[in-house]
Amino acid sequence: MTELVSVDAHRARILDVVRPLPAETVGVTGASGRTLARDAIAALDIPAFDNSAMDGFAVRFTDVAGASASDPVELAVSGDVAAGSAALGDVTAGTTHRIMTGAPVPHGADTIVPFEHTSGGLADSLSTAIVRETPKAAGAHIRRRAEDLARGDTVLPAGSPLGALQISALLAAGVTEVSVTRAPRVVVVSTGAELSAPGEVPGAGQIPDSNSTLIAELVRGAGGELVLRTNVGDDPAELVHLLERYDDADAIITSGGVSAGAYEPVKQALEGRIRFSKIAMQPGKPQGFGVLDGGALFFGLPGNPVSVAASFEAFVRPALLAMQARVHIDRPLLRLPSAAAWRTPPERRQYVPIVVDRADPATWRVRPATTGGSGSHLVGGLGLAEGFAVVPAEVDEVAAGDLVDVVLLSPPF
Ligand code: AMP
Ligand code: MG
Repeated sequence: MTELVSVDAHRARILDVVRPLPAETVGVTGASGRTLARDAIAALDIPAFDNSAMDGFAVRFTDVAGASASDPVELAVSGDVAAGSAALGDVTAGTTHRIMTGAPVPHGADTIVPFEHTSGGLADSLSTAIVRETPKAAGAHIRRRAEDLARGDTVLPAGSPLGALQISALLAAGVTEVSVTRAPRVVVVSTGAELSAPGEVPGAGQIPDSNSTLIAELVRGAGGELVLRTNVGDDPAELVHLLERYDDADAIITSGGVSAGAYEPVKQALEGRIRFSKIAMQPGKPQGFGVLDGGALFFGLPGNPVSVAASFEAFVRPALLAMQARVHIDRPLLRLPSAAAWRTPPERRQYVPIVVDRADPATWRVRPATTGGSGSHLVGGLGLAEGFAVVPAEVDEVAAGDLVDVVLLSPPF
């Protein structure tokens, strides 16, 4: 029997040949899903200028320092500043300007009195302001220029992935273009004579090809750009033809055809050119990996859908993120108690699709997503899964209450 290769050793072989992709400059608004190749530097202060945090009046603190309900201070309203005002007036002693949230603080004023601390409020705000409360301190309710970020500061370091929150921070800091690593160009091919194209009604003996779309979506989620998604039969010549055409992609990912049956087109097409190994994991034991002549990294994943999802998580996703020079290529591991017991195969790391049981909000627990065991063919249950429990090779059994390592996948919404 061939020796099993540990998950970590197989992963190390892969990461060893990954090279970061070149950088390119893109507009910030189109940069979602990309990874920064260089630190992004603020071009503007945030806030860009001192501005009001409340709707109310811009005052001189000393004018209102003694104000109370029983001894209010009356100020003449000599100006009105809306958000977007460019020209700044002067607040002189004994006067005030009405001011709205986000509007620049006029010269002379050092404090904002919210409408709630005046007698007239908004309704009576353009002639006199009757202040009934002393502000906490000079500077109250003023958002200071650059208190969040100053021009020249690093907004996000190289290696950061860009999503909604990051892009909004960059825009607020006046960054319009960013240097990002090129998205890996990926080809996805599922193999199997039994497959009908996704969305088509399968004929006798056929099943829908779900793997190629599974992989394609996972590729997109890992920042990759899909060049081609297709399915081929079990004729190795068909695959060889495809590989010749696309071997200059950054990665080619196949499903099926790598195990020990009679019709294993991936093995037959690439035996001797890439390495076929048995990995100490369940599911996902048979794996092919190598570099094609044109430079593409080739991942030959097994055919069972749960194996595909687990193999992608263990090997392909880290490789795609490393190509993009991401700082973190692994999802954070959580340690959560199990709500169920199950047996695990000896000396193989197990990837179990799980759901999170939130019945007790103080202690989330996990249970397998699929009923009927850990079968790698249970693709229906995969639709309910929120992540994987990753059980070390040394553990033979998980008991209810045991803490297990869990990776949560991003929800699809
Ligand atoms: P294989 O590794 O090619 O022997 O396939 C293992 C199992 O996974 C078989 O039961 C296949 O029918 C199933 N399978 C292979 N490819 C796909 C696919 N693209 N979509 C869904 N199931 C598949
Ligand atoms: Mg097959």
